Amino acid sequence: MIGSGVGESLLASTGSEIGESFLTPLPGVDLVLYQAVAPFLSGSGGRGLRRWAARRPCCAAVQLGHLDDGRWRCGHCGGWFSASHSGGLLALARARQPVGVDVQLYRRRPAALRWLARVSGLETATIAHWAAAEAVLKAVGQAGSRPQPGWATLPEVLGDHSILRIAFPAARVELRSLTFGPAALVSLAVARLIDG
Ligand SMILES: [Zn+2]
Repeated sequence: MIGSGVGESLLASTGSEIGESFLTPLPGVDLVLYQAVAPFLSGSGGRGLRRWAARRPCCAAVQLGHLDDGRWRCGHCGGWFSASHSGGLLALARARQPVGVDVQLYRRRPAALRWLARVSGLETATIAHWAAAEAVLKAVGQAGSRPQPGWATLPEVLGDHSILRIAFPAARVELRSLTFGPAALVSLAVARLIDG
């Protein structure tokens, strides 16, 4: 679903933006994608999230903060945010539950994908699996860690909507993969921690 009523573009100040799309890829999740001529620079994710929260507030007293585990959260309403950029693409997401987003340009990285397949129970890993793993790790606050074998069993085929269980921290994760033009894809994960 393409959103509406958002007039001024969020990143217009960069002068390089050529497109933006608002999507609702999973129930209760908002995703916005930006395409720019020039690559997004380090820090673009945080800047984009702050502008998004300012223009389309999650609550009446937004307090967007960056947690020690790398995740973004509103200190007032508890809403969760995530950002990712690759080349001239930037993806921002937010949800009531912990959310992770990852955008990847298609590129060859055979060694990394062989490693990902080994730790994720896959016969063959693709760049879509890489994006999915990044999104899941971001959602559960493990973005800075290297997953151990058995951390999760990623589905061989990433469809519109997958559900998987993560061993650490124990969580049930909803996953959605979206292609973005011919050269990129976006993966989105929403996590629910499992008690006990
Ligand atoms: Zn809020």
